[in-house]
Amino acid sequence: MNLNKYDISTTYKATVSRNERLTPEDARDEVRHIVLNIADPSFVFVEGQSIGVVVPGPHDFGNPYHFRLYSIASTRQGEDSNLAELSLCVRRCFYIDDVSGERQKGIASHYLCDAPPGKEITITGPYGRQFLIPRDNSANLLLLGVGTGIAPFRAFVKHIFDERRAWEGKVRLFYGAKTGMELLYMNDIKNDIGQYYQQGTFKAFEALSPRPAVDAPVAIDRTLEDNAEEIWEMIQDPKTYVYLAGLSKTFKGLDKAMTNIAGSEEGYRQKRQEMLQQGRWAELLYD
Ligand SMILES: Cc1cc2nc3c(=O)[nH]c(=O)nc-3n(C[C@H](O)[C@H](O)[C@H](O)COP(=O)(O)OP(=O)(O)OC[C@H]3O[C@@H](n4cnc5c(N)ncnc54)[C@H](O)[C@@H]3O)c2cc1C
Repeated sequence: MNLNKYDISTTYKATVSRNERLTPEDARDEVRHIVLNIADPSFVFVEGQSIGVVVPGPHDFGNPYHFRLYSIASTRQGEDSNLAELSLCVRRCFYIDDVSGERQKGIASHYLCDAPPGKEITITGPYGRQFLIPRDNSANLLLLGVGTGIAPFRAFVKHIFDERRAWEGKVRLFYGAKTGMELLYMNDIKNDIGQYYQQGTFKAFEALSPRPAVDAPVAIDRTLEDNAEEIWEMIQDPKTYVYLAGLSKTFKGLDKAMTNIAGSEEGYRQKRQEMLQQGRWAELLYD
């Protein structure tokens, strides 16, 4: 991901309103729901866009600031219908330093996860016009998300069912997490996607890791294959849009699963290419 192409010449002040943990205390990953208040009304966005977060320096290698992107988890009407607020879903990130071999803290994710209510931060954006909900209410949506990849889909589902209301197409959410309690926005801690299960056009499929204790990959591919018939039928329909969001490594098994669903590698490749060209296949994948 080349972050240099993002225009950060216009910045906005945002104040943290809330910062809540979404995963249980004993989960391996700490993921937080962070609500920001942006007083400037010229900052407007739609579902599927991201913001930039500028962490002031100095940082290593003389970098004056550290810039990272985060998906907006709220709708265009704001968080809880407050137009001045939006939310992010942020995983506290660590990595192993190539040289020292030591565990290091990701800069922006720690900055956000540690930000208390009242803290002022600098943001930019919004960015991204490739991950948007179609205008046509009869479109079918196949939403594939793992981990924090749920953020844009929380915004999608809220917008479709609370704000568009007359949605007629099928909405199918395949959502991967290590355990049921780590299904963000669908667990006992916060269940705002679960509220839409009663919508006739909406179905959510959980894909959990078969061996969470040893960090086995989330089995989104297996859950997709279990529902191969409906997926393939949806993909044949010119009104279907496919969206993928989350850490790229968690989608490693996707191509194989889709190849099995399509019946051949060539069949899948052609279908994906056709959908990409028609703006019906969008990916928001990050490392
Ligand atoms: C469009 C988009 C949307 C995104 N949305 C979200 C979201 O909704 N939620 C979310 O949590 N994340 C999201 N991300 C990811 C996010 O932008 C950050 O990449 C993530 O939070 C890590 O940033 P950081 O500053 O905490 O870590 P950094 O300080 O950037 O470090 C993390 C990474 O840097 C590399 N690295 C840096 N230094 C070293 C070193 N010395 N040795 C080895 N490796 C090194 C490693 O690859 C490591 O994984 C998104 C990314 C994109 C592109």
